[in-house]
Amino acid sequence: MKDKAVLHDHLDGGLRPSTIIDLAHQLNIKLPTTDKQLLADWFFENISSQQNQVFNKFELTISIMQDEESLERVAYEAVEDLTIDGISQGELRYAPLQHLRKGLKPQNVIDSVSRGLQRGMDKFGGNFNSILCAMRQNEDSSEVADLAISNYLNGVVGFDLAGPEYGYPPSKHIEACMKIHNSDIGLTIHAGEAANFSYIDDAIFNCKAQRIGHGWQIIDGCTENDGLFEPNTKAAEYILEEKIPLEICISSNIKSGASDITLESHPVIKLFNSGFNVTLNPDNRLMASTTLSQEYEIAKKDFGLTEDKENEIIQNTKNSLFQNSNL
Ligand SMILES: [Zn+2]
Repeated sequence: MKDKAVLHDHLDGGLRPSTIIDLAHQLNIKLPTTDKQLLADWFFENISSQQNQVFNKFELTISIMQDEESLERVAYEAVEDLTIDGISQGELRYAPLQHLRKGLKPQNVIDSVSRGLQRGMDKFGGNFNSILCAMRQNEDSSEVADLAISNYLNGVVGFDLAGPEYGYPPSKHIEACMKIHNSDIGLTIHAGEAANFSYIDDAIFNCKAQRIGHGWQIIDGCTENDGLFEPNTKAAEYILEEKIPLEICISSNIKSGASDITLESHPVIKLFNSGFNVTLNPDNRLMASTTLSQEYEIAKKDFGLTEDKENEIIQNTKNSLFQNSNL
């Protein structure tokens, strides 16, 4: 198995079904089923085209990650699962302010996750850090930015805007983004997953994002000629020339219901062949029922990714880690 890296993997989207069953039992939380496979199927089941439905699934995973032990366990197991998948370097993301329902302070949440990641690294090796997400529908992004900055030496390397994209453009959180821009923390923003190209433009030029989460809708800032995308907008041109990493998540795009993209129409390889800095990621291993290895398999099987190009994408991804770069 090739040694790989991952940039875009949500901690609350990658729990093991067995852990959910175990923790829900301890916490007396009702599950739709207590059968491991049926529960995995429930998380994966097709999510229709209603753009916010995927978030219902997170409601359940987040509800069992409200105490220090659970958070530490989920982080530790993420390192183990990623290691088993051949990943030795990675950035796991979560929204710390979503884990305060039972009285934890934001710093307790971050300390618990960082402890889990460290314990995982002590056991399995590798280098794993975290990215703190602010939920774009909320008004507390500045607080999350401050937490990211003050935890730079506590395992946090990045800041992200996550949650429902439509109606919440990145510059709604310009204050938080500028704080991050003026710090050592890396800035990535979900843009062009559900919403259109203007959100990518906004993320790049107004908010100074260094990486784009998903970003496949960059194709609307390009002209397609002979299967290659040529920028016809300033934002697409900038992303191409500056090699801004696109955190592409094929299975998740198809399954999340956030857009109507299909496997056949996904532009991942055309973007790569056009010179964009494409990286592959699982996004939510549980909800998309995938692993990073499976994403590479899809790229090979369905898009004809050759071994040389696979190695190039793996290297792009490693080079794009906030923890490895001075982006
Ligand atoms: Zn994501």
